[in-house]
Amino acid sequence: MTNGRFSAHSFHATQAELNQSFVSGLWMQAKGPRVLGLVDPHSEADAGSLVASESGLVDQAVRAARDALREWSRSPRTVRRNALEGLIQGIEARREIFAQTISAEIGAPIDFCHKQQVAAALAHLRATLAALECESNDSQLGPDPAHRVRYEAMGVAALITPWNWPLNQVVLKVGGALAAGCPMVLKPSEYATRTAVLFAQVMAELDLPAGVFNLVIGDGQTGADLVAHPGVDVVSFTGSTRAGSHIAATAAARFARTTLELGGKSPNLLFADCDLETAMTQGVAHCFRNSGQSCNAASRMLVERQVYDRAVALAAEIARATPLGAPAAPGPHLGPLVNRAQYERVQGYLDYGVTSDARLISGGPGRADGFAQGYYVTPTVFADVTPENRLFQEEIFGPVLTMTPFDGEDQAIALANQTPYGLAAYVQTSDPARADRVSRQLNAGMIQVNGTSRVQGAPFGGRGASGQGREAGIWGIRAFQDIKSISGAARMPQT
Ligand code: NAD
Repeated sequence: MTNGRFSAHSFHATQAELNQSFVSGLWMQAKGPRVLGLVDPHSEADAGSLVASESGLVDQAVRAARDALREWSRSPRTVRRNALEGLIQGIEARREIFAQTISAEIGAPIDFCHKQQVAAALAHLRATLAALECESNDSQLGPDPAHRVRYEAMGVAALITPWNWPLNQVVLKVGGALAAGCPMVLKPSEYATRTAVLFAQVMAELDLPAGVFNLVIGDGQTGADLVAHPGVDVVSFTGSTRAGSHIAATAAARFARTTLELGGKSPNLLFADCDLETAMTQGVAHCFRNSGQSCNAASRMLVERQVYDRAVALAAEIARATPLGAPAAPGPHLGPLVNRAQYERVQGYLDYGVTSDARLISGGPGRADGFAQGYYVTPTVFADVTPENRLFQEEIFGPVLTMTPFDGEDQAIALANQTPYGLAAYVQTSDPARADRVSRQLNAGMIQVNGTSRVQGAPFGGRGASGQGREAGIWGIRAFQDIKSISGAARMPQT
């Protein structure tokens, strides 16, 4: 066990640092038999190894968080606001090293890491801060001040995150839990541990009460141990639908609350009256963004039949013109997928796709041309994909777009809603009445029309196989709070 910070000269996590967790204000060396070899997604070279934390360390972390619960849940808003401000400043000051670390770890190109990965994290933290400033946790219900509703911290929070937006997903949860008054244990993805360790270094500098923030590094088993711990009151999980369903079942057995941000297969509906060239450029790019490794990727394009052939031709053209390149190289290219398992999974879908009744119009199976090594997948488009096809139904999590024609609004909506997922949906039309009508009927937690970005603080999350609950802004704070109604006692000045 070491008490203190990592090497002052650098915020790069070395191999020794990689295997440390942060529990009750102390850095602790992970020990145990489960060792995961890490591989550079660009070169496939050895990138160190991770020792997964075992249940004993998970138990220590949860106990530390429980010890901090009374103090943190009652902390004044100013204290929580200062913590969020300090976190924003800490990340701001290390933007470069965060971008480099994310880029090296998951293979995302460096400019994308600066402009999207790190920028999105900071924007979300600012939205959480703004929500904390504006919202009241204690509000009167009706004309009599003795009738009130209070939002109170739910208790100890378990935060489990994936690798694809590794800083953004961590801050969405940590920011919300901090603001809500919940001490927490963070278990980041085994494929993005270096980013999480850098993040923990920033948290350690905030000098929060010991146990408010704990980091336990490890694998899925470490996450499962955390979820199963009886000292955890609320679980916020982002990751696969498979793991989310295990987590929901474990938590339900003791009525622990869950927020689940899971997979997606989001439709993009292009009506004939849209600006087709713009919609195609934006739509294909959205699907391929982060090499297709985004839960809300617009991966299922539905196109009105009058413009379908033109859209297919444009998609092929845009996909062929989408460059691939090394994570460290500047520019707007796509990088490799994160690891071999992900690469093989996507290749499996591509192999299946070419033998299915879908029509391959660009890209296809095999390592991308020009790359002797690395998990590079050629951006791929399949046309004429029927709803029965697995490419239409299943989340691929790679740069693979499907295209399907439709006739009229009703069929477009029916096709859009024809998967178990319900995360995001995208609509392209020049008719405002249709935009509203269709948006209301789509089975998704988030609708974006004509390329409009979500405003910061808008609720993020979905339905069905895409999960439950919301993150971001006030919704991300409320996810860690319970509601109490008080009848007969007006709010008194607090000492
Ligand atoms: P994953 O489910 O394999 O792992 C996510 C995290 O959960 C990791 O930290 C992992 O160690 C842990 N984990 C795995 N099994 C667990 C278990 N049984 N109990 C507890 N923890 C467990 O997912 P991934 O491959 O890291 O991420 C990709 C998935 O995440 C995709 O399906 C993607 O759509 C989804 N995702 C969703 C959102 C969203 O907001 N809806 C955002 C990003 C990613």
